[in-house]
Amino acid sequence: MRDSSPIGHGGRLTIDLSALRANWRRLAEVAECPETAAVIKADAYGCGIARAAPALWREGCRTFFVAHLSEGLAAREAVPEAAIYVLNGFPPGRAPEYRAATLRPVLGSREEIAEWAAANRQEGVIRPAALHVDTGMNRLGLSVPEGLALAGDPVIAQAGIDLLMSHLVSAEVEHDPLTDRQAAAFATLRAAYPGIRASLANSSGDFLPVCRADLARPGYALYGGNPRPGHDNPMRPVVRLEAGILQVREVAAGETAGYNARWTAPGPRRLATLSLGYADGFPRASTGRGEALVGGVRCPFAGNVSMDLIILDVTEAPQEALRRGAPATLIGDRLDLETVGRNAGTIGYEILTGLGRRYERVYRD
Ligand SMILES: *Cc1c(COP(=O)(O)O)cnc(C)c1O
Repeated sequence: MRDSSPIGHGGRLTIDLSALRANWRRLAEVAECPETAAVIKADAYGCGIARAAPALWREGCRTFFVAHLSEGLAAREAVPEAAIYVLNGFPPGRAPEYRAATLRPVLGSREEIAEWAAANRQEGVIRPAALHVDTGMNRLGLSVPEGLALAGDPVIAQAGIDLLMSHLVSAEVEHDPLTDRQAAAFATLRAAYPGIRASLANSSGDFLPVCRADLARPGYALYGGNPRPGHDNPMRPVVRLEAGILQVREVAAGETAGYNARWTAPGPRRLATLSLGYADGFPRASTGRGEALVGGVRCPFAGNVSMDLIILDVTEAPQEALRRGAPATLIGDRLDLETVGRNAGTIGYEILTGLGRRYERVYRD
């Protein structure tokens, strides 16, 4: 570790809140929308809603998106005065809990809209909600024809709709015609809902002028993910994952390492065992492809990632970096979220949101 070994934990996750705030500012500039929100679902993409949301609030962020009621309640505690939208809407009969915490459900079906409008009538207070129209994902929201048909219907006002939104299918893919089709459908919808704010862009959509609206909704890029794959990452890294070396050993050609002997030394090799494994949230699927930085040198994983341990081939690492307790970097520097995701056969989003509860967490600001 930079300071000392994480005492009582396998790995240390350092979360840079000043980088998070800088990323939000950057995205707000790039998006050129009157307002930029922050998506903080999945515990702020693994970074911790209780620390991330207040940091963003201090930077000027006033609107937040989560996926579930439980996340909405955590967000409400973290940012008491913010507007908080719940992307997955609300389950039947659960409107009172949303209302008690002044959470705004994102409504995606006629049934859901009617239930929220009925709750507004009953309470005699119109509490705001968003309307989700599906322009191509086929996942959540009214269809475009349904959305157009409901425009001007009194139920829209009764349900307190104050935001019209849709979600992009592949904004990270350059020049994808699907994005243009979605943007065109969304423009038609906006015209049918005059006076209601609109939101289309996620992190990658922020960089596409065609996705500009009243409110941008970035998530991944806030936390350092690259919103423009194939280009240099314009965001600052937010998370760093390190684990300490427990032991170093020398093995001869032909010896194996780890469960089921999946790795065989091609010659005399030096191995180091790290105090971190899949139970910490580091994917076992990284077996055979994963790597860590030791003394600045990329060292491949040797053998299966096990529950609490990872074996590294540190033959190329400088000797002085191989002390017991010395740090290896699993996420950070050249091992960015995209690389770590690729090494595990997944995407950086899954790496970030899977960051375990078992790490020592250090926040810097
Ligand atoms: C998760 C999500 C976002 C944020 O997307 P990123 O790609 O992480 O920026 C925005 N809108 C909706 C509806 C989402 O589900």
